[in-house]
Amino acid sequence: MKLYNTMSKTKEEFVPLEEGKVKMYVCGPTVYNFIHIGNARPMMVFDTVRRYFEYKGYDVNFVSNFTDVDDKIIKKANEEGVTADEISKRYIEESKKDMEDMNVKPATKHPLATEEISGMIALIQNLIDKGYAYAKNGTVYFRTRRFEDYGKLSHKNLDDLRSGNRSLLVSGEDEKEDPLDFVLWKPKKEGEPSWESPWGDGRPGWHIECSEMSKKYLGEQIDIHAGGEDLIFPHHENEIAQSEAANGKEFAKYWLHNGFLNIDNRKMSKSLGNFFTVREISEKYDLQVLRFFMLSAHYRSPLNFSAELMEAAKNGLDRIKTAADNLRFLLDNAKVEELTEAEQEKMSKAQEFVGSFEKAMDDDFNTADAISAIFELVKYANTTADGESSCAYLNGLLDLIVKLADVLGIIIEKKEELLDADIEALIQERQAARKERNFARADEIREELLAKGIVLEDTREGVKWKRA
Ligand code: AMP
Ligand code: ZN
Repeated sequence: MKLYNTMSKTKEEFVPLEEGKVKMYVCGPTVYNFIHIGNARPMMVFDTVRRYFEYKGYDVNFVSNFTDVDDKIIKKANEEGVTADEISKRYIEESKKDMEDMNVKPATKHPLATEEISGMIALIQNLIDKGYAYAKNGTVYFRTRRFEDYGKLSHKNLDDLRSGNRSLLVSGEDEKEDPLDFVLWKPKKEGEPSWESPWGDGRPGWHIECSEMSKKYLGEQIDIHAGGEDLIFPHHENEIAQSEAANGKEFAKYWLHNGFLNIDNRKMSKSLGNFFTVREISEKYDLQVLRFFMLSAHYRSPLNFSAELMEAAKNGLDRIKTAADNLRFLLDNAKVEELTEAEQEKMSKAQEFVGSFEKAMDDDFNTADAISAIFELVKYANTTADGESSCAYLNGLLDLIVKLADVLGIIIEKKEELLDADIEALIQERQAARKERNFARADEIREELLAKGIVLEDTREGVKWKRA
């Protein structure tokens, strides 16, 4: 199994630190609003990575944090006149709801930065003791040049950074020994959340949070650290400096980064007005469609979101669901139980599509090709299963489709259908509405049923209905 490591800029064979186990940390969102569809990309992509490792038999310890103390949270709290804690708690709950609807598995652990402050303080103290950090008037800085490997992940050269950063010297951080130094602990400002520390009341910098939470829940060395590509520098570079300076060990073996999601070929931003939350998308589409869309591209490629591409994703997903429904229908009517000899051969042919699926996923999680393999399997099912097929053959095909889709986090359930009893109940309600001359409601019910494929016909004998 190969994965692309940002550190070496090559695809490397995956060798776990511990046989049969994967320790994985994914930087989670800062919770000051509903998550947007850009945030949804790493969630869905790395959940799929986790599911594939599990499919391969690995035991995955998956940790993903919520950053619940940050300038943006404080700003939002001040705007609403509530505490920062209220804002972060609210949006953690909302994020979890969205994740569930996107079929993103809950992490083994979702640590909150605010609950890990004492560990962060100990880590900062350790860095000070080792000479990698220093305190100045309540602020603690990391001594970047002391860490020789600085820049190894982002492939940046310290001197280039130095010239790019010169302006920092005049931007109020003039107490630093060097403009490249970054903040580990910042002093309290009036009206902001703060904690006691040996350097005075204050709060941690963003980077130290992940170094601490990763160490606490996964240990000093982990297999995979992941996030969006914007986190490579400075966030992940700084995490490496902090963790490796403190622990004296390589922090993570593989660094995985997803490409960005754009909207109609433009960067997503509030000011451009092309900004969608996952919740907004869920009003128009089943979030399974969003997931199918996200996985239709390789996770490292930039991905463009548009109405047309979402429609294409919806059609693709429907093709798989329809094939599964067809197999279920044939199963209900199948007469033969056991696989026939001819079917045994067909079943091994169907297994070849599983081989292509795994080959694609083994190649740095190529979900686009993995989806193509599922389509091939679906086509094969459509052409080889019929009224003569045995239960065993139909079940075999259905299981394969459902199992592969599940690795991608796509649920292939029965297409939603109104039960006869539900239809009858709505017709009764419509009759009652008409009696009360509430024609608006009566029409609304007719439309509602029509949208679900039920056509009503008013006849002399009463209302009749049929499926369109
Ligand atoms: P943030 O809340 O900004 O810290 O982001 C949480 C996660 O979402 C990080 O891994 C980011 O890299 C990722 N992310 C944010 N915006 C996008 C985007 N437009 N496309 C893909 N990933 C994104
Ligand atoms: Zn992080």
